[in-house]
Amino acid sequence: MTSVILMTGSRSWNNVQVSADALSATLIMLGVTEKQAALRHGASRGADTLLARTAEGLGIATQAVPAQWDRHTEQCPPWDRQNATCKLAGHRRNSIMIAAGANICLAFPTHAMSLQPGEDSKDTSRGTWDCATKAKDAGIPTLVVWGDHFFPFGQPGAELLQRAATQRGLQLGPSLSAPILGIWLPF
Ligand SMILES: [Zn+2]
Repeated sequence: MTSVILMTGSRSWNNVQVSADALSATLIMLGVTEKQAALRHGASRGADTLLARTAEGLGIATQAVPAQWDRHTEQCPPWDRQNATCKLAGHRRNSIMIAAGANICLAFPTHAMSLQPGEDSKDTSRGTWDCATKAKDAGIPTLVVWGDHFFPFGQPGAELLQRAATQRGLQLGPSLSAPILGIWLPF
């Protein structure tokens, strides 16, 4: 039985070390080896590409679910159909990735969920938060990677993190966060 690690992340995410640490820590939280896990990603540049490459380097299988940017569907509203690029393709892809089920969802945003006043509105991790929200609402334990910490996003994610922390005698920090490296420190 393969454990599926669903991931979503910003196109400007580029932290190689935290990507590798987050994947390793996730295997330990799920209690599986590299061979028993698969990384499902959206095949976009940035986080998706970096995490897929990192997973392959660790011997974790990868499943790419690219968005169909050049195709509209029956559900696309008129304002969207006027464009050559489907603005809803990313959201559609996120729903497909989640409907297939997953053991955990890791989100790698580069911006907070709400923009700060005056913040540049380009590349704002909106797609990442959309996918994380859908995963959480589908009951998939969802963790946000922010700095070098995991933050639970929703109740199932909080429970997973609490369980992993308790098993290792770790205290969760503010907002129930856990240092990524601390997850696999020896007892
Ligand atoms: Zn469309």
